[in-house]
Amino acid sequence: MNTPQKTIVSRELMNTLNEGCASCGKRFEMGESAVMACGAWGDVQKLVHENEAVFDEKQGQYVEKRCYEASRGGI
Ligand SMILES: [Zn+2]
Repeated sequence: MNTPQKTIVSRELMNTLNEGCASCGKRFEMGESAVMACGAWGDVQKLVHENEAVFDEKQGQYVEKRCYEASRGGI
């Protein structure tokens, strides 16, 4: 089984993050749900808010929403 790369933002995690959410650019707050997702920025997985990503069952990983919808649109 694939384990979705989901995490709850902790104080430790906040301290190790140099950048905010890769999707909306906001800082993560403690207790928020975040997931490692790929997106328009490339193949590298970055941390985004869970509600800004979609779990793609085909890929077995989270994809940032805008990127996901763009790829589904076929353009
Ligand atoms: Zn965000």
